[in-house]
Amino acid sequence: MARACDRCGRILGESAVRYVVVISITADVPAELEIDQAMEDVEAEIERLLERLGDISAEEAEAQVHQRMVYLLCPDCREAFAGDPIGKGVGFPSLVQ
Ligand SMILES: [Zn+2]
Repeated sequence: MARACDRCGRILGESAVRYVVVISITADVPAELEIDQAMEDVEAEIERLLERLGDISAEEAEAQVHQRMVYLLCPDCREAFAGDPIGKGVGFPSLVQ
């Protein structure tokens, strides 16, 4: 199935070289929060994190704690993304001049 590059809009057919970029943003929880930790401790830590996030909806809170984004890119946009994945403005020019 042909799909458009999510960055530049170029149509990419099934035989075109295309790339999937998966971005996962996760809140940096304290290192002492381990898998085998008591459930009460984990719940207390989540409670503290939500308090720090302030008065926001459950959906907003979830997005603040973990967010996953998926993009389809053409080869040129893959190169541009890989050259500047966190938007520092170096390496490759952006689409907006
Ligand atoms: Zn592109």
